[in-house]
Amino acid sequence: MRLTTVGTGTISLWPGRGCASHLVEAGDVRLLLDCGPGTAVNMARLGLDWWGVTHVALTHFHLDHIGDLPALVFAWRHARREPRNAPLVLLGPVGTAALLERWGAALGDWLTIPGFPLTIVEVPLEMPVALADDVHLTARHVPHTDESVAYSVEHDGRRLVYTGDTGVDESLGAWAAGCDLLLAECSLPDAMAIPTHLTPAQCGALAAAAQPARLVVTHMYPPLEGMDLRAEIGAHWAGEVVVARDALRLDC
Ligand SMILES: [Zn+2]
Ligand SMILES: [Zn+2]
Repeated sequence: MRLTTVGTGTISLWPGRGCASHLVEAGDVRLLLDCGPGTAVNMARLGLDWWGVTHVALTHFHLDHIGDLPALVFAWRHARREPRNAPLVLLGPVGTAALLERWGAALGDWLTIPGFPLTIVEVPLEMPVALADDVHLTARHVPHTDESVAYSVEHDGRRLVYTGDTGVDESLGAWAAGCDLLLAECSLPDAMAIPTHLTPAQCGALAAAAQPARLVVTHMYPPLEGMDLRAEIGAHWAGEVVVARDALRLDC
């Protein structure tokens, strides 16, 4: 598997960090984990194959995680002489189909009937969904919004876990235990801790419970800029820590 961090920031806009978006390449699957504002243009800017995305998985419905989905669909219809005809699978929590219906009512039928096969899957919790014969996605609820989920992606004996946005959940580490790459949100300094996001110390504690081969932190708010996050996290976990930036490519 390969992970590319397309957007590692939040809606607190910051130069060099797009809103939440992460591309996972696994076998024939090109999976976008969240699709925040700027995803489409950032993929193009980074030379990523935005045309070839096969699956989009939303973790929750905050705009910094979903805002560019209509832009991508519009691009797949209109950006090239021949519109896309490859199927797309949109995955997300319960409410994903209603979200698209409402967006379609406002923006036009093209969103729900885009001219290429569009399948919406509201992912059941704790039940693996096959994205391909050799790629599986599993969702788990996390404490952020009512619908928020974390995802586990498995391919070829490897496992990547993405927390999405989450507050502290004492059992999340056990769920992610032993994964090869833990992509965790790390939003605010410890002094600004809130129940719906993680701080560096809380990320470190999560990694200590999960023991991933590698911890990659994303979703940084501006107060974290300039801080030594590897040291802050390292005080709670001795393993490898990668502080993501946009356009980082990591094999998993
Ligand atoms: Zn959120
Ligand atoms: Zn967010």
